Amino acid sequence: MRLVSVVVPVYNEEKGIERFCLKELFPELKKLENYSLELIFINDGSPDKTLEKLNSLIKDPSAPKTTKIISFSKNFGKEAALTAGFRLAKGDCAISLDSDGQQPPSLIPKFLEKWESGARIVTGVRDGYTKHGLIPRLGSKLFYKLLKMMGNNSTVPGSTDFRLLDRVALDEFNALTEHSRITRGLIDWLGFRQEYIKYRYGTRIAGRPAYNLKKLFRLAIDSFVSMSSTPLVIFGYVGIIITVLSFLLGVFCLINQYLLGDPLGLYWPGAVHMAILITFLVGLVLISQAITAIYISNIYTEAKNRPLYIIDKENSKL
Ligand code: UDP
Ligand code: MG
Repeated sequence: MRLVSVVVPVYNEEKGIERFCLKELFPELKKLENYSLELIFINDGSPDKTLEKLNSLIKDPSAPKTTKIISFSKNFGKEAALTAGFRLAKGDCAISLDSDGQQPPSLIPKFLEKWESGARIVTGVRDGYTKHGLIPRLGSKLFYKLLKMMGNNSTVPGSTDFRLLDRVALDEFNALTEHSRITRGLIDWLGFRQEYIKYRYGTRIAGRPAYNLKKLFRLAIDSFVSMSSTPLVIFGYVGIIITVLSFLLGVFCLINQYLLGDPLGLYWPGAVHMAILITFLVGLVLISQAITAIYISNIYTEAKNRPLYIIDKENSKL
């Protein structure tokens, strides 16, 4: 029987965790009779009673036989929690899902079905918007637009951390060593063909989301910076435009005033010449900054030490 690992990050979910486990997760896992199961909770340093509740929940007869709780020393964030879960997972595949009920465990069989028919990675995609309020909505739209502009074409808008990775994808993911990490982004970077499952992002069983607008903004910036060096280079292009324009303006000014004796009658004072010169120099500074940025980005790429390539399949005639 194939082993399926289920990875669940948990942070401050004391109010909802019992209902989630007893009413949703455990019953759904029970239905998967054709698989061996391994359930891994990562308690991400919850200061509330989450850990105590988990400790008693795993004793419940409906919990899978192999159920582990890994408890962090403090809150390291969901990305670290997922990474720990994937590294610990021994399964032939691993499925990650939230512990607040927003990613319905009833979809797990669908994920497994796609895996059985050959998918290396299955990704849950939010159907429509769940975030309330104009700013988060617009923010989410802008985020995916920018991500695309920066050359990331592999991330489908609305894709979530509700994912399945087969053993090959898991091993490749676990080999990535960088510290500043966005799980979704890294999984997409692996490049394997993905299958998608659309689902309605439910409402939280209880408690409040740990990600407020400030944290989401930070996450978005991290996504951009860790996946691409484009933000650094944009200013270089601005610099080139400024330099070229101010250079042309300077040449025009010189010719008009000193060679032709101002036939246009502009009477530009010295301050204008000064302004043109300063703009020109600002352009040069921006360009040189961008060049430095490219060096830094190359150092960053080396430091991340991602594999040069990832092999999907092999076939040989022997
Ligand atoms: N979570 C975590 N560590 C954190 C924040 C969240 O492990 O620092 C868990 C949380 O318990 C939940 C999942 O990650 O299972 C998603 O968190 P949340 O519901 O706050 O985010 P959202 O649903 O808004 O993406
Ligand atoms: Mg949530």
